[in-house]
Amino acid sequence: MLDCLPKRIEPVGLADAGRSFRGKVPIAELPRLAPALYSSEGELDVRLEFGLNERCIRTVTGSIEGSLDLVCQRCLGSLRFPLALRIRLGVISDETQIRGLPEGYEPLLATGEPLATFDLIEDEVLLAIPAIPRHTEDEHCETEYENQPSPGKDNPFAVLGKLKS
Ligand SMILES: [Zn+2]
Repeated sequence: MLDCLPKRIEPVGLADAGRSFRGKVPIAELPRLAPALYSSEGELDVRLEFGLNERCIRTVTGSIEGSLDLVCQRCLGSLRFPLALRIRLGVISDETQIRGLPEGYEPLLATGEPLATFDLIEDEVLLAIPAIPRHTEDEHCETEYENQPSPGKDNPFAVLGKLKS
């Protein structure tokens, strides 16, 4: 395994050659994640292994590990989201080959043109992020917007509380 990640990869040739790579991807270099992020600091550890399976289907396997700092959609605070993704892609040259892929493998369409490595990583990470990230009950939100204003003289909702009672 080479200790680098090429900027561009050509899956067919790399699979035939059985190459593998590992490296770090700065989260700030994945611009499509930006809207979901509280902070783009940090890096992800990525491993990519290109090869052939027993049925001579070209595969890209590997992992993406690290953590993202997402925006909680309830309190708009920072939400740490650990990532430990498995990559399982079967390389196809047209869509008719999708059915021939082994179970659990997603298609990766290779047209002969090299692919941007970070695009591929970004696609995988986007699929793993929850549609509406939120702190869990155990993690607690940074600010509570739970319609439970604490009574106090400066709190306009305290008046409403009095009216109700
Ligand atoms: Zn929250």
